[in-house]
Parts: sequence; structure tokens; C-alpha cells
Amino acid sequence: MLKPRVQVRQRQRPPLHLLPLGGCGEIGMNLTLYGYQDHWIAVDCGMMIRQDLPEGPLQVPDIESLAGLGICPKMLVITHGHEDHIGAVAWLWPKWRCPIIATPLAAGLLRAKFAERELETSSLQIIEVDEGFESGPFALRLLPLTHSIPESCSLLIVTPEYRVMHTGDWKLDPEPLIGEPTDPERYQALAPIDLVVGDSTNAPLPAIHAVKAKSRAHSRRRWPAAAAVSSSPALPVIWHVFSLLVVRRRAMAAASVCSAARWNAW
Ligand SMILES: [Zn+2]
Repeated sequence: MLKPRVQVRQRQRPPLHLLPLGGCGEIGMNLTLYGYQDHWIAVDCGMMIRQDLPEGPLQVPDIESLAGLGICPKMLVITHGHEDHIGAVAWLWPKWRCPIIATPLAAGLLRAKFAERELETSSLQIIEVDEGFESGPFALRLLPLTHSIPESCSLLIVTPEYRVMHTGDWKLDPEPLIGEPTDPERYQALAPIDLVVGDSTNAPLPAIHAVKAKSRAHSRRRWPAAAAVSSSPALPVIWHVFSLLVVRRRAMAAASVCSAARWNAW
């Protein structure tokens, strides 16, 4: 009688590891790690958007498991300056002390946060959108992508074996109030891509609805709140919006001017 045999088949190529520690299945607190050949990088490091204010503590991702796995990222890359992508850096980065790559606006926001916590800022490295850089076996590039704050980027992650598109936040607004529309040909030219790690607040919705919601919400004419103010000049209006949602602040200002309303910002 033949004895069953088993053999461990060796990998044909070294694995690329993906480790989301925040922002997956929840809104806010974005933190994703990529590992290849024992070299790890982190992408974004945000706080939870829906804080239990005013007395509750800042909520940040749990990174305790990293120490047990022997993981310490060698680089932190920031896709854009929203709090759910940078709000935890000043709290978690001191455990890593790695270089932080960010565009000028995100780096400036981080510098202010580091000053508040009396952290030195020499690890902050400013990079322009579309400039390539490296960390160990990773070749990286921040690519322009339309969103609601200037200098928003996706991140192209390339190793000798894999090509990954980490989108960051995105909004395919055909008439963006900030920056240029996303160039589809630019992204098509990145093919082949092995994996897209897509960031979408409305990902659980049916795809067509999610794309439409993300693609149209901030357009000057299509954002319902701005349109309502523009067409209702007699109404007193109090706006409430995240301070870093720059494009909505702009839409609010434009709508107020259109309605001849007095514009005060706090
Ligand atoms: Zn964002």
C-alpha cells in the first residue's frame, strides 16, 4: 500500500506582504504596511475621524503587534494631508524613527504637529508630486490624484516582482475646484499592475453608486449644499466642515459670494 506523501513546495518568487492596521472596514485611521524581503514600509498614519469629542482621547491605530512580528517600517510615506492620513504620525512614529516622505503641504502640517509634541523634524523629507524615491527593494512614486486637498497622491509601489497601486483617497471629479482632473491615460500607462489597494469611503456600496458619489460630490455645481445656498440668498447659513477639506471650504465661499451672503470663517 502506498503511503501518502507530502512535500512543501517552495515559493516561485518571494512574497509581498500587505498588512493593514487601520482604515480597512472603517472610516479613518489609515495605516497600511507593505513588506518585501524583510523590508517594510508604512503608508499613511492617521487618526480616527469620528472622535468622541470633546473629552475623549485621540484614537490611533494599534501597532503593538508589529513588535511581536519583528516589524519596524524603514519608511513612512504620506499620500496627503488629511487627519485620517497624518493625524497619528506624531504619536506612533517615535516608535519607528524612520524617514517620513511627504509633499510640501503634508510635510508642513506634520511639522506643526511635531512642534506641538516637541519632536525633532529632521526625518521629514519633502518630495514633489511625481518624483520617484526608494526604500530598500521598493521603488516608489507619488502620483497626482484628484481629491479635496492640494497635493493629494496615489502611491505606485514597485518591487522586482510586483507592482502595486495604493490609491490613497481619490475623487474623479471632472471639474475639480483644486488641481487638475485625474489623467486616466497616465494611470492606464502604469499597467501591468498586480494589485490595486483602493481607498474608498463608500466601498461597501454598489460600485456604480460609490464611483458616482466620489466623483461628483465636490464639484461646484453638483455639491447639493452649495447649490442650495446659491439658489436661496435669503437664508442665513452656518456651515460646518473639516478645516482640511479645502475644496468644500472653497465651494462654500463661492456659493456665499454667488448669493451675496456675508462670508465669515472661523
Ligand atoms: Zn483625504
